[in-house]
Amino acid sequence: MSTETFEFQVEARQLLQMVIHSIYSNKDVFLRELISNASDALDKLRLEALRDDSLGADVADLHIELEADQEARTLTVRDNGIGMSYDEVIQLIGTIARSGTAKFAQELKAAQDLDSAGGLIGQFGVGFYSSFMVADEVVLLTRRAGESQGTRWVSSGEGTYTLETVEDAPQGTSVTLVLRPADTEDQLHDYTSAWKIREIVKRYSDFITWPIRMAAAPATAPAAGSEGEEEGEAAAPREPETLNSMKALWARSRDEVSAEEYHELYKHISHDWIDPLETVRLQAEGTFEYQALLFIPSHAPHDLFTQGYQRGIQLYVKRVFVMDDCEELMPPYLRFVKGVVDAQDLSLNVSREILQQDRQIQLMRRRLAKKILSTVKELMAGSPERYTTFWREFGRVLKEGLLSDTDNRDAILAVSSFASTHDPEAPTTLKSYVERMKEGQEHVYYLTGESRKAIENSPHMEAFQAKGIEVLLLTDPVDEVWVEAVPAFEGKQLRSVAKGELDLDSEQEQEAEGEREQRQQQFAGLLTWMSDKLSEDVKEVRLSSRLTVSPACVVSDTHDATPALEAMYRAMGQ
Ligand code: ADP
Ligand code: MG
Repeated sequence: MSTETFEFQVEARQLLQMVIHSIYSNKDVFLRELISNASDALDKLRLEALRDDSLGADVADLHIELEADQEARTLTVRDNGIGMSYDEVIQLIGTIARSGTAKFAQELKAAQDLDSAGGLIGQFGVGFYSSFMVADEVVLLTRRAGESQGTRWVSSGEGTYTLETVEDAPQGTSVTLVLRPADTEDQLHDYTSAWKIREIVKRYSDFITWPIRMAAAPATAPAAGSEGEEEGEAAAPREPETLNSMKALWARSRDEVSAEEYHELYKHISHDWIDPLETVRLQAEGTFEYQALLFIPSHAPHDLFTQGYQRGIQLYVKRVFVMDDCEELMPPYLRFVKGVVDAQDLSLNVSREILQQDRQIQLMRRRLAKKILSTVKELMAGSPERYTTFWREFGRVLKEGLLSDTDNRDAILAVSSFASTHDPEAPTTLKSYVERMKEGQEHVYYLTGESRKAIENSPHMEAFQAKGIEVLLLTDPVDEVWVEAVPAFEGKQLRSVAKGELDLDSEQEQEAEGEREQRQQQFAGLLTWMSDKLSEDVKEVRLSSRLTVSPACVVSDTHDATPALEAMYRAMGQ
């Protein structure tokens, strides 16, 4: 078979350079990444076999196998899962297909030196490439289930890799790492040591639902001859040892599972390398039984607002993985939530179409949404710092729910925070705003705009500033839209300071009313003249008490669109 040499895609090459030279200290995670890939490959195969009888795959004993060779200093991670075709290897291993890794590559360009880049590995994770943190050379041998030919991929991570077609490859994938020489004083990094491997698997991959077996150490090289007695024993096949407990975390009792275990599962399913902000469990009994283990990440993925964002929850049916990115289980405004739902009474063959129509699934989605919102509420009350993180990362997307989820509108408002004139540093909740409302103030005032600065400088703000009335400063694009849909909070109307008549003047200023009428007459000529001149552009010119410094400002009618909304509609061609 001929061997062909390929170049890594530019981003992939940069990434590899960094992985190879990085000083990222937690190198153990490479094994977690390889096991995670193997586990995904087994999930995919089981599912594909289930859906396609003619696949011709062997699914009898799906497992992951680790084999260390101390002499040769290699470690092999092997699975008999779905495998990859020749083209898939080029696609999946030769380029950076993962969005998370692409983001990583961008950050990498910005990073000044390898030290700060090392930190980036910890933040983003580099999947398969993390092998090169510990290996001089990586050999990947793979055959896609159902295909006859296999592919061998070899690389030292330096710019190129070779590919070769192989006739007798077993189904699935094996990744063999030719380990770098261990630091002499550093027993800890000997990845051929059985206890080290055991320890890493226990720590990072215990919950993997496929058996992770450690092949019995190969008989020591017969040439040595020194241990002649034992050779006979070594020749007898020893049982491989299963290293993980394989227990689905969501099926275990709560107090039996540690936070670390939850976090490892989170990292496995989300491809995130940072611990989640919050872990949420829910158990539904009765006619439609399911268990949910959900996570609120501690940071928003960079593509949260892009079209292709892969949202959703993993769906299991009675412990069997059925679907990734199951959108039907979470409303779009909670698309950042990750996790697992394991349902008892669905078919393994369940399709997205069926899920979309299933009433039980709809009920489940509502229940899960409520649970997330109540969790955020608890965060708010119990750990303000974490709530602050939550809001900073996900507030923008959560507010979409004010439009799309009218059932939960109040619950969403209750956990929302907004920048306000009250405190330039800290956002406020509506509840606190209402508590601070002045005597005689009836409404909750806000102004939307592009930035805090732009809003603060708006002439609309002058009267409010002068009177010391708090105004919410709404700067997210979605704010323009939800404020139109949400009339009130706890009986207090939400009012834009840029719209309509203001009723700031309470009793003590009632007498000024007469004065104003007088002035109105006084300026009648000017107002009529201005109205005529501006009739193309404005509906009406009136005297106002809203300005203290600026001579004039444009306001909208209460029911008109705001300038930003108008601009938005115009952009959409309406
Ligand atoms: P990720 O797992 O986040 O997608 P990786 O860099 O770990 O990123 O892997 C890249 C891709 O290579 C995987 O998505 C998968 O399609 C493929 N892959 C890696 N390892 C295996 C394997 N053992 N079996 C089949 N496909 C694999
Ligand atoms: Mg991976």
